[in-house]
Amino acid sequence: MRLSKRVFLLLVSSLFSCVVLTSAWPAEPDWAAVEKEAGELLSHYVQIDTTNPPGNELSAANFWKQQLAQEGLEAQVFESQTGRGVVYARLKGTGEKKPLILLHHLDVVPAVKTDWEVDPFAGIVKDGYVYGRGAIDCKGVAAVQFMVFALLKRLGMPLKRDLIFLGTADEEEGGRQGAGWFVDNHFDLIADAEFLLTEGGGIRVRDGKRSYDIDIAEKAPCWIQLDASGPAGHGSRPLPETAVTRLIRALDKILHYETEVKVTPAVQTYFTTLATQEAPAKAKRFRDLKRALTDPTFRKDFLANPTYNALVRNTISPTVLEGSNKTNVIPAHARAQLDCRLLPGEDPQQFVASLEKVVSDPEVHFSILLNFPPLASAADTELFRAIRSVAERHDPQVPVVPAVLGGFTDSHYFRRKGIVSYGFTGIALTEEDGRRVHGTNERMPLTGLREGSQILFELVQELNK
Ligand SMILES: [Zn+2]
Repeated sequence: MRLSKRVFLLLVSSLFSCVVLTSAWPAEPDWAAVEKEAGELLSHYVQIDTTNPPGNELSAANFWKQQLAQEGLEAQVFESQTGRGVVYARLKGTGEKKPLILLHHLDVVPAVKTDWEVDPFAGIVKDGYVYGRGAIDCKGVAAVQFMVFALLKRLGMPLKRDLIFLGTADEEEGGRQGAGWFVDNHFDLIADAEFLLTEGGGIRVRDGKRSYDIDIAEKAPCWIQLDASGPAGHGSRPLPETAVTRLIRALDKILHYETEVKVTPAVQTYFTTLATQEAPAKAKRFRDLKRALTDPTFRKDFLANPTYNALVRNTISPTVLEGSNKTNVIPAHARAQLDCRLLPGEDPQQFVASLEKVVSDPEVHFSILLNFPPLASAADTELFRAIRSVAERHDPQVPVVPAVLGGFTDSHYFRRKGIVSYGFTGIALTEEDGRRVHGTNERMPLTGLREGSQILFELVQELNK
């Protein structure tokens, strides 16, 4: 079925290329057909379970290798560890300009099937959405990137810069077996690249208003483990202080600890740009956020928005809890993990020290599980201007915003090597759909696949002028 559709698309495109011989770009893809194809592709792709841990991304890497082969494109698959895959392919241009990398990750976070309305790994398509774990993060992004890659090949589009398709393992656990491994071991394959686009930003729809959010910077993860210890014993003989009671007390203190609110220059720029869309009273506040946050009512409302809250402070999310695995056994050890995210310029050691002070219990030991420095890419680049041009054409009057991502992606591995890396997918997401990422009933609108493909396609055109 897929093959016949492809043949159809090829026929449509070759028809176009006959008609528009004089244009540098031979044809305009049939976007309705692209939406249908991308939806089916994503539905299949979601069915490959790449829950990390353990990942098993090799199967996903091979899936893309096969898809690319059907387009007549050769891909390389690497195995960073048994079962962990990375897929790489390159569409050649004339070399007049330096390559653009389209990066996505192959792994997904776990999904608890019973919490979902649909099977998270069945690739269900209903009511205009593809449902499934990874539908947005990051398999939908991959589907869009692949469609653009394939369309350029099918239509024989002339490129000045090579286009690189890169899918990596392990992003959800920090990327050390994926992007980190690839950059350490095969950087020669992408050393000539100038730009990179990946997940994170895109078209954001808030209260029905759109903005093009381009993530140029990210907060840094600082994942922390708390290990509490105390006397072991029988549950029938409660002890005044144990590893578990210590841990509960420590976590309670951390929950009541309010980190300082700080407006960094990048965050202020973001809100200044968003202000252009707001009514005068709110716009005034967005233009001087630091001052506005001294007003208790505004501050309360502003910080109640989890996305905004995360942009102006170091955040702490308790996530993992482990104590005894038996009701009547008091364990000697208990542990918790905190997903903390730090603002640019923060010192992780100092942050841990501040938590240790809050807890002030020598029997609770703190260690950092994952941390890397926050890196930013400049906003004054050809890539940024190209996104702005596409946005102005596609969505006149809509703000194009250099944004700071509250989470993190694999971008830092590439930024570290001097490749300008932005979080921008071209896919439009509402806040409602955005909340489903890493949550339940994650879903990608089919229209998002269509528009995302179109915007990314136009962006590649813009960058190859
Ligand atoms: Zn992701």
